[in-house]
Amino acid sequence: MINPLLAPWTAPFGLPPFADVRPEHFVPAFAEATARHLDEVDAIAAAADAPTFANTIAALDRAGRDLERIRALFFNLTSSETSPALQEVQRAMAPQLAAHDNRVHTHAGLFARIDALHARRDAIDLDGEQRRALERFHLDFVRAGARFAPTARERHAEIVQRIAELMTRFGQNVLADESAFQLVLRSEADLAGLPESLRAAARQAAAERGVADGAVITLSRSLVVPFLTFSTRRDLREAAWRAWTSRGEHAGASDNRQLAAEILQLRLEQARLHGHSSYADFALADTMAQTRSAVTALLERVWQPARERAEDERAALAAVALSRGQSATIEPWDWRFYAEHVRRVRFDLDDAEVRPYFALDAMVAAAFDCAGRLFGVSFVERRDLVAYHPDVRVYEVRGASGPIGVFLHDNFARPSKRSGAWMSEYRSQSRNGGDGDAPVLPIVVNNNNFAKAAPGAPTLLSFDDARTLFHEFGHGLHGLLSNVRYERLSGTSVLRDFVELPSQLFEHWLDEPAVLKRHARHHRTGEPIPDALIAKLQRARHFNQGYETLRYVASAMVDMAVHARTAADPVDVVEFERAELARLGLPHGVGVNHRLVHFQHLFAGGYAAGYYVYLWAEVLDADGYEAFVEAGDPFDAQVAQRLVRFIYSAGNSIEPGAAYRAFRGRAAVAEPMLRNRGLLEAVAT
Ligand SMILES: [Zn+2]
Repeated sequence: MINPLLAPWTAPFGLPPFADVRPEHFVPAFAEATARHLDEVDAIAAAADAPTFANTIAALDRAGRDLERIRALFFNLTSSETSPALQEVQRAMAPQLAAHDNRVHTHAGLFARIDALHARRDAIDLDGEQRRALERFHLDFVRAGARFAPTARERHAEIVQRIAELMTRFGQNVLADESAFQLVLRSEADLAGLPESLRAAARQAAAERGVADGAVITLSRSLVVPFLTFSTRRDLREAAWRAWTSRGEHAGASDNRQLAAEILQLRLEQARLHGHSSYADFALADTMAQTRSAVTALLERVWQPARERAEDERAALAAVALSRGQSATIEPWDWRFYAEHVRRVRFDLDDAEVRPYFALDAMVAAAFDCAGRLFGVSFVERRDLVAYHPDVRVYEVRGASGPIGVFLHDNFARPSKRSGAWMSEYRSQSRNGGDGDAPVLPIVVNNNNFAKAAPGAPTLLSFDDARTLFHEFGHGLHGLLSNVRYERLSGTSVLRDFVELPSQLFEHWLDEPAVLKRHARHHRTGEPIPDALIAKLQRARHFNQGYETLRYVASAMVDMAVHARTAADPVDVVEFERAELARLGLPHGVGVNHRLVHFQHLFAGGYAAGYYVYLWAEVLDADGYEAFVEAGDPFDAQVAQRLVRFIYSAGNSIEPGAAYRAFRGRAAVAEPMLRNRGLLEAVAT
């Protein structure tokens, strides 16, 4: 029987053979593809000719493309449409793939050639992108331990394999806890306070989970957050909040406490092998920030003003609670509920009034339209192309002279999909595909977790949901507009604290009244959103930003602190987190974005000692958007041209600080970020 993963992929644009793939195809396909990749790497290393950029770096960049496309398909499926069979393959393959990567990146013969080229980099004739590719590949090898003595190299390989295994289990445990929980609402009393849109989404979730005659709140963000915001049932809010914040902390099969502790121990050992005293130092060495002190300085700059702001917010919430005869102590499951009340009273802003103008399809059209006006690209739906789930929509992306990529849009929550929202790729853009410099087109996917409306009804988003849609689409454009030669430098393969710039920057267009007037139309009447409602949204912008900022910064501080540990003993992550939050003085009732026991950015993703990157990039995006404000037009052609040239299309071909300065004409300053968060006045006092 032919394994469709190893046969040529003949679908248009080289899309994966979604319909034919079975979980059992992956193990043999990985075995074959990793062997082929190693053969290619051995051949590069064994070449009789002296190392040149072409026969070493460009060849290495081209090697392993079969493995890459199979791996991309596999990990996209395990994130977006997983199954017990795929999860089993994932547990088996994660350490093996980590071992394979390590073998390539510590290949002695290959590293000798790269190292020789790197030593002569000033003497050989390289253009800017080639020089950058050489430097990045060299650093990849060094950070994988290519320079270590054999025993250290072996131990390093063991560590990265074990970490890969533990991280796989960590993520699967979070999904298991999320899938296991459901809050079933049967009576009107259970549904008290919930707006119609949330009731409809909860009925749809019940139908999908086979719960007859009821409504279900799952731990999907687009259900649990609105529930915490609107439910007047304090007991049910508490139950939902406890389930949501204790994911990964239940004794038994899905317990993440020991896994996190072991990952942290191994990371410290890894950092020490590299000569760093903590993992945070090792991780930060390859970032824009460079040092812990640079990160901490930024986080602390917002912490104190955000605390003062949150104290004012808490007092306002307590006043409402008291006026309703409730306790003035605002518990974590109360904050969103009373904040919504204050928002309604103070800003006359009601979620039920906002949602009808933010139908999902209209917001997708808005994102496409902004991309078109800024960058001259268009999105043409290809209903003839089918992806891995019927909800996924497939678009051909066209530039001035033909297709530039494929965009998959996977917007709805389902039990087989991990929580959160993210961008990923099935294939990265390059012009180094083995076929001369013919372009290799990117295949990009955006995943969201919006609660799907009942069949026939439009899915209505909150303003925050629409922001998430724009955010991920900004990442998507970073992949789709990429225009580099070498895949190593393509699209989002940038430094971690630069990668949120294209995504967060794109959110700004959703705040533009002209964009809202054009696209935020009532789903029934087609009427554009009233000016008065836009004004209310803008006035309410800073409301509750103390709370939101503290939740984020607290998580970023805990991440940095736990990865800055220098003691090798296993840490009790629950106790560590409690002590750290107490030290920081996180006010009661606020909570954090992610607790360590389910912090997938750190323990199932690539953001260890890196949760700060959103704020780091926010300095850049807030300052960067001012370029359009200064030009007096959110679609100013000249600013947009610099933006695409130096940011959205440049990938990692330019050092990020230099890329930003080339776009903006100067380095970024922090004031626009502080102003956008409403924290600037607080700083001045
Ligand atoms: Zn992002």
